[in-house]
Amino acid sequence: MRTLTIGIIALQGDVAEHQNMLHNALDNLGLKGNIIMIKHHGSVKSCDGIILTGGESTTLSSLLISEGINEEIIEAHNKRIPIMGTCAGMIVLAKEGDEQVKKTGQYLLSLMNIKVKRNIFGRQKDSFETEIDVKFLDRPYKGVFIRAPAIVEFGSTVTPLSYMNNVVVAAEEDNLLVLAFHPELTNDTRMHEYFLNKVLDLIENK
Ligand code: GLN
Repeated sequence: MRTLTIGIIALQGDVAEHQNMLHNALDNLGLKGNIIMIKHHGSVKSCDGIILTGGESTTLSSLLISEGINEEIIEAHNKRIPIMGTCAGMIVLAKEGDEQVKKTGQYLLSLMNIKVKRNIFGRQKDSFETEIDVKFLDRPYKGVFIRAPAIVEFGSTVTPLSYMNNVVVAAEEDNLLVLAFHPELTNDTRMHEYFLNKVLDLIENK
């Protein structure tokens, strides 16, 4: 098996934590991986998989454009390269945002057939942790929600993977995997392992 190259878009957010989780997930799966931090144009095309981290989606949107990384991610998506977006990363991958996103003209990569609402859990519960059931896991996962968004509408090609109240907090569409919570802030590598398995599937089916 060749060494996998996984790129973390490292413009802001929990970059080091994702890197750490990826190292552990690669070890658990017995895989060799090269994890690269992407801050500028030019290295997305060498990636077998890409992670868009949480942070602040408005900042992430602007930085993706100013660094010229947005078009590169869209090209990678067109080649079906697996992309995992967590929290703000999920927002930026969406085709549609909420009223605030529309009003401010916030840029979205518009790759996934989902409509997201930012900060949906409100001020009282800005940040919280709760056990969630996820479709592909046999036991619950600790969801760490930090001013989290959720998916309020989705297309027929999208598979919802986890619900909280009436909204979707994890979903998948072909090569795209989005999570409203922060898997990198747990010790549980199952989400990163699931993502790496998507990367492997693509390589094996090429
Ligand atoms: N509330 C942030 C946003 O709308 C996302 C928060 C996060 O990534 N933890 O961009």
